[in-house]
Amino acid sequence: MHQHWSENLADRVIVEKKEPYVISGGMTTSGPVHFGTLCEMLFPAAIKKALEKKGKKVRYYFIADIFDAFDSVPKSMEEYTKELAPHLGKPLCDVPDPTGKSRSFGDHYLDEARELMKKFGIEAEIVRINEYYRQGRFDELARFYLEHSDEARKIVEETSGKTEKKDWSPIMPVCEKCGRIATTRVTAHEGESYEYACDRDVKYTKGCGFRGKNRISDHRYKIVWRLHWPSWKQIFGTSIEGAGMDHHTKGGSEDTCKAITKNLLGKEYHIPYKYGFILFKGKKYSKSKGTGMGISEISTLLMPEVIKYMLLKPDLEENVDIDPDSDKILRKIEEFEYASTVDMNDPEASRSDRKKGIAFALSTDKMKWKSFLDALLYFQIYRDWEKVKEMTGDPDGVEYLKSYIEEWIDRKFMPDDYNFTYAPKKASGNVRKFIESLESGMDALAVHNAVFEFANASAIQPKDFFAEIYDAMIGKKKGPRLGKLIAAIGIEKLKKDML
Ligand SMILES: [Zn+2]
Repeated sequence: MHQHWSENLADRVIVEKKEPYVISGGMTTSGPVHFGTLCEMLFPAAIKKALEKKGKKVRYYFIADIFDAFDSVPKSMEEYTKELAPHLGKPLCDVPDPTGKSRSFGDHYLDEARELMKKFGIEAEIVRINEYYRQGRFDELARFYLEHSDEARKIVEETSGKTEKKDWSPIMPVCEKCGRIATTRVTAHEGESYEYACDRDVKYTKGCGFRGKNRISDHRYKIVWRLHWPSWKQIFGTSIEGAGMDHHTKGGSEDTCKAITKNLLGKEYHIPYKYGFILFKGKKYSKSKGTGMGISEISTLLMPEVIKYMLLKPDLEENVDIDPDSDKILRKIEEFEYASTVDMNDPEASRSDRKKGIAFALSTDKMKWKSFLDALLYFQIYRDWEKVKEMTGDPDGVEYLKSYIEEWIDRKFMPDDYNFTYAPKKASGNVRKFIESLESGMDALAVHNAVFEFANASAIQPKDFFAEIYDAMIGKKKGPRLGKLIAAIGIEKLKKDML
């Protein structure tokens, strides 16, 4: 039977690691969450679900790298550039949130991520990594790296393929005078103590010139990224953690992480996995340039379970292309509705069906509506939600879909065929004869077939005949599937309106 990647990874965890299992993952909270971030949350949650399905104990830590340096003002905060600029170079958790909503600039985006997790039903233990530093949980490793500074540096250089500066150090002190972390360098260290100078120029900001002395136990430092990453895996006891392709390239941080863990720390390595890129209309998604529609925008148009489905269905290493074209989105919604009917435990189910079924099960617990297309179609005909609820026989589902469909209309996102108003004209000629021939009780398919039969019998091109009927009903040459449209309006009503 075809297995989803989350099931394959869960099997590997069970064979190679010890329970309780730990899945970790994280993000630097320096800007708005994007589709890549959403994947970073969804993928571990999918593995957790697969392990829990097998009755295993598992924890998922979502690590907010909130102690990293604030290195640029994101597009969404451009209006606050003046307030933010003096804080460049400080840890994200020490920069004030200019909107006043969150406890810090880094927390602003972490809170956004929390909201998103809630919306997408992702459960994780969220860790603000600065707290772990403050509690001294990294101290032992920091001392170890300082003591083995030359070896650590050698591994970093070998695996990254880059020569580090002469004053490279495993730790980045926070300057006690200006509060920056990006501009400091360790000038000497002995055992627990280290001396530093805040005099680096990192283009976007400069050090204040202060020279100071600190101890590891003061907890005013962060370990450099290439050592910080393997460190958190030791601290959390990670069994499995994934990363995007960019970490897995030659010279990427995955190689460093592995070599540090095995060769310097002498520890067992967790199970790594890698995932593809998120593309936007075939192009690489760029968070800094803000290309493409953001998650918050797409979330107003598309139900969260369908977004999850789109991200979880492809193979793990496949690139996911987000294309917010209304026809494509509509097809995805229909595929999602179909996926809800697949029995995953059916050994006869095809590979493609099982893939859909699993992606569905990972996206939601239950199907919340019957047919998006019907709700949309009925609304275009009646423009009255109560009527739509009655006609579809799915009041709860329609209530759930309502805000999305309204957004489709407000934003003119509607596919062309569905962008219509029912405005019946008195029918004449063939159209009149055809409508007269319809019998009440005919369903969408019967009506559809009747159009072809009538056209053939009257020696008219079906295509032209369809156009003629649409024109009489909705004043345009094309529209939604005609059988469905007529069945939705009701044959009795159609006769009353058009004959
Ligand atoms: Zn300073």
